[in-house]
Amino acid sequence: MCGVVGLIGENKAGEKLFPALFALQHRGQDAAGILSFDFQRGHFQLEKDLGLVSQVFPLERLARLQGSMALGHTRYSTIGTVEKEDLQPLVLSYPNGLGMVHNGNVTNYSEILDYVRKRRSRWTFTRNDLEILLHMMSIGVSDQLEEGANLNAEVLAKAARLVVEQVKGAYSIVGMMANLGMFAFCDPQGIRPLLIGRKLEEGRYKYCFSSEKQVFFGLGYEYWRDLRAGEFVFIDQEQNFFSFPLAEKIARPCMFEWIYFAGAETEWHHRPVYEVRLRLGEILAAEAARKMKLEVFDVDVVAPVPDTSRAAALRLAEVLEKPYREVLIKNRYVQRSFIVNEPEMRKAMVNLKLLPVESEIRGKKILLVDDSIVRGTTSARIIQLLREAGAEKVYLASTCPPIRYPCFYGIDFPEGESLVAFEKTEDQVARFLGVDALIYLPLSRLKEAIGLDSLCSACLDGDYPVKVSKNEFLDTRNRNIGGGGKNEVNV
Ligand code: SF4
Repeated sequence: MCGVVGLIGENKAGEKLFPALFALQHRGQDAAGILSFDFQRGHFQLEKDLGLVSQVFPLERLARLQGSMALGHTRYSTIGTVEKEDLQPLVLSYPNGLGMVHNGNVTNYSEILDYVRKRRSRWTFTRNDLEILLHMMSIGVSDQLEEGANLNAEVLAKAARLVVEQVKGAYSIVGMMANLGMFAFCDPQGIRPLLIGRKLEEGRYKYCFSSEKQVFFGLGYEYWRDLRAGEFVFIDQEQNFFSFPLAEKIARPCMFEWIYFAGAETEWHHRPVYEVRLRLGEILAAEAARKMKLEVFDVDVVAPVPDTSRAAALRLAEVLEKPYREVLIKNRYVQRSFIVNEPEMRKAMVNLKLLPVESEIRGKKILLVDDSIVRGTTSARIIQLLREAGAEKVYLASTCPPIRYPCFYGIDFPEGESLVAFEKTEDQVARFLGVDALIYLPLSRLKEAIGLDSLCSACLDGDYPVKVSKNEFLDTRNRNIGGGGKNEVNV
């Protein structure tokens, strides 16, 4: 999972993306990068590195990013490696200079890689699926140029159509073509978010693309609309806006964006994330009340596992008319990208990631609210932590229904028994976690909470919007670098 952003029509667009990347830091903390293009000099400048945005871009590096068009990326490594060669953006010199960033995962990677290398004699240098997307786009453009076409928006749109016809998976792409302009498109079902912002200046709009809406606010843009599933958008040097249809399918946006991944300030499909999280809490409260009545137990306080579940916990506490308390404090300076090799130090870092507030825990019956339970190891550790801090009872409520299947579209949910809910009843999961009661949001009410009928919820029900063959499944597993999953503490 990653954050992407693109800006065209601004002086020093590359520098302006620096604050934008801060607004997308939560979508990826392994690495960051910016690619700028200067129309006057016909020059690309690429700056990227491992680390947080603040570490990657000292002032002198930002100053090199000249020009009025730029792409930015924050990386969370699930596929490929956490090595420098796999970082985004990537750029190709042919035809005419082409740069791209993307968020998602290509599921037929090996098939496309074979096509690119063996049938089209193009070499690749990374294990990042963006590179094959970039080659496919470049092949689509160069084939048309060789047939005598002039490089323009239609040619780019046709090349993108070839990409979506052949490349399977989830991908939201922002790209730029040297001397021409900026484009954006996504997979035909729009599994990953991509939003369009704009700003009116001297009678013309400037445009910005972003995974999340708060970027527009930071840059002084207004959120205009979402990129539609199967839509190709192009903005030229004079800021003229073009839109072309690529494919006609019903959108299946990832439900996990609302539950966990997206920032609380953004919205997607006109569903504000914070509002959805409040609704998740409300539905969960009804489930909790039913369980409390059935199993005859009571709670003293409702508490979130920081930070994502705060809104749901607040609303759940309101509905149950129970006090809301913070019983765990998250140390936001312990980062996934901070690598420690010594086991002792690693253990200490894990322990410091979440600290208990003993005065709010001792002697209390606590209903803990978490956004989701993936492997369950972190949840089990937190429950143990609360017990050691003197909790009388610990109940756990999850705003996400049981996760039972892997995700192939860019979130590193593992497969099979690594998922705590895999082939287990809720009681078995509760025993594994060591909780006194476990409450899940029912799958049947997820769509109601988000307010959309058509969603990707494959990790919950196995209904994959893009079918994955056995070979693709094995391929994805081999390429997955085995990140921790959202609930795991990686230091
Ligand atoms: S499988 Fe789950 S996490 Fe992956 S895209 Fe679908 S809903 Fe999102």
